[in-house]
Amino acid sequence: MPAPSRPSGAKALNPQRLDVSALADRGDGLAGQRPLVECTRLLEPGEPLPPPEALLHWKALAEHRPVRGGAPELWLHLALHTTVQRTCQRCLQPVALSLALERDFLFAPTEAQAEAWDAERDDADVLVLTKSLNLLELAEDEVLLALPLVPRHEACPQPLVAPAEQAAPSADPSADPSPEEPKRDHPFAILAQLKRPH
Ligand SMILES: [Zn+2]
Repeated sequence: MPAPSRPSGAKALNPQRLDVSALADRGDGLAGQRPLVECTRLLEPGEPLPPPEALLHWKALAEHRPVRGGAPELWLHLALHTTVQRTCQRCLQPVALSLALERDFLFAPTEAQAEAWDAERDDADVLVLTKSLNLLELAEDEVLLALPLVPRHEACPQPLVAPAEQAAPSADPSADPSPEEPKRDHPFAILAQLKRPH
C-alpha cells in the first residue's frame, strides 16, 4: 500500500523527534517506512541480514480525546506492518514472519500520572509525554515485542524426498518408458518365423 502523500503546505514533523501534541493539533497522520536493515535491534546474530527492500511500514495518528469534566487526553495510534525473516526452530528452514500490529498509547503529563494510569487502565500503554518522541524506535520496540521467542512455520514445508525413495523402481510395469520395439513385438516375430516358408 503506498504511503499517503502529505499536503505540501503542512509543516514537516520529524518522526524521530516527534511532538505528539503537534501531530494531534495538525489532525492528519504521519506515515513512512524504514529499511529493516536499519532496525538494528531486530537483527539477530546468526541470521542473515534483511534485504535492502525489506521495510517496516508505520503509520501514526494522534488525537486530543475529550474527557468529561477533565483535560483532554493525548493519544497516539500506531499501525505497523512488516515481514521479518528468521530460521524456523523446528525444520531449520527460513521462515517469513509477517506482522501487522496496532497499538494505542496514552500520554501522561508526568511520571507520577503515568504510574497511576499504568496501574488502573488496561485500555492503553501509558507513556510519559515528551516533546521529542522517537517514533521509529517505538515502532521497532513494538515489532521486537511481537516477534515470537521461538520462530516456527505454522506448518513446516514437506521434507525433501530421500534419494533412495526417488530411485525406487516403479511398481507399474506398463509405465516402463524404454522403447524396446523388438521386445514388445516378440510374439509376432515368432509367428512370422512360423509362417515363413521353408
Ligand atoms: Zn519449519
